[in-house]
Amino acid sequence: MISTVEAFRGQQLARRLLNGYLQRRRVAGTFLLLGQRGLGKTTLGTILARALCCEQNRDAPRLWFCGKCYACRTIAAGDQPEYTVVRPRSKQITITMIEKEFGGFASASLHPTLLSHRIFAIQDAHYLNEQSANQLLKLFEEPPAQTVFILDTDQPELMLPTILSRGQKIVLTPLPFDELTATVHADQPDADEPACVEAARMAAGRYVDAMRLAGAADWRAAVKKLADVLGHGERYQAPAEELAQFELEALWHKELHDTGLDAEEAEKMIARAKTDEEKGLRTRLNELTRQALITAYNRAAWWHLQEAALPPGFLKALTELKARINQNVDPGLAQAAFEIALAKEFKPAAS
Ligand SMILES: [Zn+2]
Repeated sequence: MISTVEAFRGQQLARRLLNGYLQRRRVAGTFLLLGQRGLGKTTLGTILARALCCEQNRDAPRLWFCGKCYACRTIAAGDQPEYTVVRPRSKQITITMIEKEFGGFASASLHPTLLSHRIFAIQDAHYLNEQSANQLLKLFEEPPAQTVFILDTDQPELMLPTILSRGQKIVLTPLPFDELTATVHADQPDADEPACVEAARMAAGRYVDAMRLAGAADWRAAVKKLADVLGHGERYQAPAEELAQFELEALWHKELHDTGLDAEEAEKMIARAKTDEEKGLRTRLNELTRQALITAYNRAAWWHLQEAALPPGFLKALTELKARINQNVDPGLAQAAFEIALAKEFKPAAS
């Protein structure tokens, strides 16, 4: 978890809005953080949680936290019973899951005793199923005092409109290319300028991705390779798998960091897959593999879009492919669906 507010880059508008709500003490019962994957919704959510609860941030509250008080330390350590984070492991957040793992929504109505606010964060909130979304709505009707919900999603169109219409919407946007290039250059002194420029292009406005790409020439080469074969309708399976592997490594690294699991331990758990937790971790790895595959194609397409003229039907094909891959949880099946759809759209290059 980020240790200072200053370490969070960009998103001036989102910061200004949150700062304003905190300064005016107009803290809504619900905040909705919206924006694409990789823009820092989760990180901003953890900043907001600490800014709300920080003991040094009470007299003149703003988007800031000290990082040292009891609230800041326990939230950052993931060791605070009044700070609940719901992270979907599969494509549904069910009532049973919330009751079994997070004490149920009822816990959200309890008055906080350790912190100034009770925080209930729900990541990828579009995975709330109908039943759990409805139960959440009931809470919104009579919002418990001192409880703040922080929901984030990159797919608001999949959420119940009644949930979307509640709360303060904070939209995160991709960083402009020039700003991203300059930031990466400043924060990644080991990377030379061409590497920073290339990374900023490939990252499509995402700071964390740009930082990783700037430091990984082999990853950038994989993006170019896939973009090249996509643009020519050639054989894309091997380059797609290669690029997805880089993307998966980044996602998995973040997952281990967020869950506090050791890499070796996680591997053993996935291999065993006996208990609910072990099975859950395997499901999560499948989900991340699917995401990595989508990101690989997306990133390559984005690069292609900036570097070359698009063949007719390219974007339409890509949109359809994304929808297909989104419906499949099993990465093998998803890859197969991708292959079939692409093969229909592009005539293979003559060999
Ligand atoms: Zn503090």
